[in-house]
Amino acid sequence: MSAATTPVLEGRNLTKYFWVKQGRGPFARRAPVHAVDNVSLALDAGKVTAIVGESGAGKTTVARILARIIQPDQGQVFLAGKPAPKGRSRSYAAQVQMVFQDPFASLNPVHRVSYDLLRPLRIHRFVTRDADASVNELLKRVALNPPAQFAAKFPHELSGGQRQRVSIARALAVRPRVLIADEPVSMLDVSIRLGVLNLLADLRNEEGLAILYVTHDIASARYLADTISVMYAGQLVESAPSAQLTDSPAHPYTQLLISAAPDPDRTSPPHLKGRGAPPSLLAPPSGCRFHPRCPYVMDICKSQAPPSIPVAPGHVSACWLHVNPASRDASGNGVPATAGSATEKETKR
Ligand code: SF4
Repeated sequence: MSAATTPVLEGRNLTKYFWVKQGRGPFARRAPVHAVDNVSLALDAGKVTAIVGESGAGKTTVARILARIIQPDQGQVFLAGKPAPKGRSRSYAAQVQMVFQDPFASLNPVHRVSYDLLRPLRIHRFVTRDADASVNELLKRVALNPPAQFAAKFPHELSGGQRQRVSIARALAVRPRVLIADEPVSMLDVSIRLGVLNLLADLRNEEGLAILYVTHDIASARYLADTISVMYAGQLVESAPSAQLTDSPAHPYTQLLISAAPDPDRTSPPHLKGRGAPPSLLAPPSGCRFHPRCPYVMDICKSQAPPSIPVAPGHVSACWLHVNPASRDASGNGVPATAGSATEKETKR
C-alpha cells in the first residue's frame, strides 16, 4: 500500500468482550458481552468517517479501542500503517485525541479554561515562551473570540457549545493527526449543534485532520461525514460514501434507521416500521444478528452470518439479500417475509 493511500488510523478485525457476572452464589458464572465483533475501519487524512447505530451497538467501544483507551481481545490497530503499541503511550496520545460526549464532565470545574489548555501543552512540551499566546491561538482555532476573555473563564461560565469548543481546543493542543469525537453534539442544544459540526468540518478541510464522528443521528452523519459505517449489535453492517448510503441504503437495518429519522420533506409513511428491540449482546442471535427484526428474513439468515458484499463502488453491505436475487423484487428491494411466519411470531412475542 502506498503512503498516499495508507490510512492515518486503522482498526482491523477488532473484537471486544466485556465479562459480566450472571446469577448468584455458587451458581454465579461469568459471561461475555459481545460488544464488538470483527470490526474493521480506516480513517483517512482530511476525511470524516462516521459510525452510526443505536445505543449499545458498539460504536463507543470501537472509538475507545482506536484511541487505545481499551485494548481489543482480537484484532489490531495501525497508526500510519504501523502496528500501534499496546496501551495509550504519550506519543500515541499526541497523535490520536478524543473529544467526549459530555462537555460538562470533561472540563475540571475548579480551573479556568487557560489551565485546561496549558496542561496538555506543558505535558507534551509544546509551550512557547509566551504561554498566553499559545492558549489564545488554540481558542481562536475553535472560534472562541475574544480568546483572552474565554481563557479567564471557569467552565460553569460557558454554554454547552462553548465548553465543547474548549474540549476540542484541548484536544488540538497536542497537534493530533486524528480526532475521535464520541457523540460530540448529542448533549448540546439543537441550536448550537450545527456550529460544533461546522467547526469539525473546518478542522477537516483546513487542517487535514482525520476525524471519527460517532453518532446515533444519521442525519448529522450525512451532513458532516464523507463516509458512513453503520453498526448493529456489535458488527458493521454497511459502509459507503455518506450521500450514497443515505440515498440508496442497501442493508435493511440502514433502511430502518433512515426511515426512523425525522424528515420534514417525507410525505409518505416510513418505508420500514420499527420492529422489536436490539438483541442482548450476552447471547446475540445466530446467523445475521438483525434477523429477529428484519422484514426480509430468510432461512439462511437464521443460521449463517452474511459476509460483507460490495454492492456499488466503495459501498459494502452484509446481507444475504445481495447474493440471493430470488429474494428481491423487480426494483432490487428485499421481499418482506410473509406475515405470520415463524420469525414474525418470534418478534411479536
Ligand atoms: Fe440479515 Fe437476512 Fe435481513 Fe439481510 S435479509 S439483514 S441477512 S436477516
